[in-house]
Amino acid sequence: GQCAYLCPVGAIYETPDWKKVLKLLERKEKILVAQTAPSVRVALGEEFGMEPGSVSTGKMVASLKKLGFDYVFDTNFAADLTIVEEGTELVERFKEGGPFPMFTSCCPGWINLLEKIYPEFIPNVSSAKSPQQMMSSVVKTYFAKKIGVDPEDIIMVSVMPCTAKKDEIKRPQQKIKLEDGREIQTTDYVITTRELAKLIKLKEINFAGLQDAEFDNPLGTSTGAAAIFGVTGGVMEAALRTAYEVITNKELPKLEFTAVRGLDGIREAEIDIEGKKVKVAIAHGTANVRKLLDDIRDGKRYYDFIEIMACPGGCIGGGGQPKSLDPDILKKRAMAIYSIDELSTLRKSHENPDIQKLYEEFLEKPNSHIAHELLHTYYTDRTVKSKAIVE
Ligand code: SF4
Repeated sequence: GQCAYLCPVGAIYETPDWKKVLKLLERKEKILVAQTAPSVRVALGEEFGMEPGSVSTGKMVASLKKLGFDYVFDTNFAADLTIVEEGTELVERFKEGGPFPMFTSCCPGWINLLEKIYPEFIPNVSSAKSPQQMMSSVVKTYFAKKIGVDPEDIIMVSVMPCTAKKDEIKRPQQKIKLEDGREIQTTDYVITTRELAKLIKLKEINFAGLQDAEFDNPLGTSTGAAAIFGVTGGVMEAALRTAYEVITNKELPKLEFTAVRGLDGIREAEIDIEGKKVKVAIAHGTANVRKLLDDIRDGKRYYDFIEIMACPGGCIGGGGQPKSLDPDILKKRAMAIYSIDELSTLRKSHENPDIQKLYEEFLEKPNSHIAHELLHTYYTDRTVKSKAIVE
């Protein structure tokens, strides 16, 4: 059924990557780098008896260090990078007249649906890689150079709410080409929030009693805009914060785009950017996503920019997250995500000083040639052509 490509539950497809990661941590032969997605920090604590909706960023980082990771970076840093790349693409499309609607690209569950059932929308999807994949590309180029090691001596492990992320890392078009011609995979392993909890329990680490630790630099700094990637509507809101300022050269009067928030399956809003009306939509959960796409295909709806997340609630409800019996669990995790944004000093991706430095020192400018080489991808038609195979 639908689960095979969207897999909000994912249990059937879960390979024990945690076992492979455990071996690597015990062997300590390579440099081990971890990154953590925005929604992991608002759910991991549930596995250790913390209240649903607790934010456990510092303990999560501390537990990864205790497990033996040499560096712990924040996928949120790369979410800021995604916004700068994708926001620039949106602004370019406004200048060039399309193609519209433009779709977000960071959910691999959605990308599977796109390639298998809705390939006609392929030109509409942003070419920006997901934050996970942007982070790993930057770690194996920019960061490897900074610390003077060969990229193949680094093992990159992502902690994700998501089981579809495990396949995303193996896509051939996600590989990068190094200066010496070698082609490498960027993320080596993905473990889910639940798998990380399993490792912490296995090593008998007292999670709730851990002293908070900080992400490593320079790939550990992030803004509130990146934090909200974990909840449905968040990528849209983060992109609008940046696109508004890039288009108008003016500071946003109000940061919160409350019209795009909430848990309704399909939400729409019209945003005024200096007289230009930008029509946006957000869908999450497979059934809602399909309804929205069918309506657009049938010409019943029109939008400029659309955010799609395969799981209910977005990544806070991902298939790799802790199981919960709390009927309000998505609301509680979403509130935790928004609280991180509100408490952040920096709340717009383009204002992240380490992102600015990354462009100055390495990537030149958003959507530059090198940014395209490392941070962008493409999609292919994977529809099943023969009816016999479907039946
Ligand atoms: Fe993965 Fe998030 Fe997409 Fe779910 S919504 S498939 S957790 S990226």
